[in-house]
Amino acid sequence: MKNIIEISKLSKSFPSPDGEEMVHVFNEVDLVVETGSSVAIVGPSGSGKSTLLNVIGLLDKPTKGSIEVNKQSLGSLSDREVAEYRNQTVGFVFQSHHLLPSCSVLENVMVPALAGFGKLGGDELRNRATELLKDVGLDHRLSHLPSQISGGERQRVAVARALINNPSVLLADEPTGALDQSNSNNLIDLLNQLNEEKEVTLLMVTHSVDSANQMKHAYHLSGGSLGQQR
Ligand code: ADP
Ligand code: MG
Repeated sequence: MKNIIEISKLSKSFPSPDGEEMVHVFNEVDLVVETGSSVAIVGPSGSGKSTLLNVIGLLDKPTKGSIEVNKQSLGSLSDREVAEYRNQTVGFVFQSHHLLPSCSVLENVMVPALAGFGKLGGDELRNRATELLKDVGLDHRLSHLPSQISGGERQRVAVARALINNPSVLLADEPTGALDQSNSNNLIDLLNQLNEEKEVTLLMVTHSVDSANQMKHAYHLSGGSLGQQR
């Protein structure tokens, strides 16, 4: 099996608010993820889980170390290539759905395809967005606004939106953190189903042991180190 993500000796530090010293979030972290796998990252609050995911998604830059995704080294990308990577190679789902309140469910799902990197447009784009909304069980809510659907449904729209550009990797940061138990279980089932059917590699930060147990592998981040649990 090929590896889609290869991370070597990755470190991230932030300057302290007074700028006097550096706060080391994680140090020389290694992580290898096989194509099509699903991986949970667990760990205490403040251990750097979001920071790690943000660095892999190039929402933030590492301090040291290397990340390869699809054999592409992320350290050497131009600004335009970074924007293209964020838009095409990875999809993001956060704890909060971040849907545009005045756009319909269907329009929200199409938004990332309008950035100019993909080839989808017009009817093709509309059809793909509709298909994805069908995959997440929301094809009967296409014209609704985010305020007119439930919290669990909004998070499903966010998942469909994350997949519109057919990313290789889905990065999910506590995607069930704002959901009740039943919606949370449904969302994890959906992510697993999409991981299998769409062959999108799933990297999920969670503090739920139940959710982590449903991923193929689990890692624990604490004290600046990442250890494999299974
Ligand atoms: P987690 O997601 O595991 O709860 P985070 O990745 O959000 O943890 O944060 C890890 C540590 O990094 C925290 O101590 C936090 O204060 C620090 N941190 C995160 N972002 C910044 C930033 N932009 N500037 C300074 N420190 C930050
Ligand atoms: Mg976090």
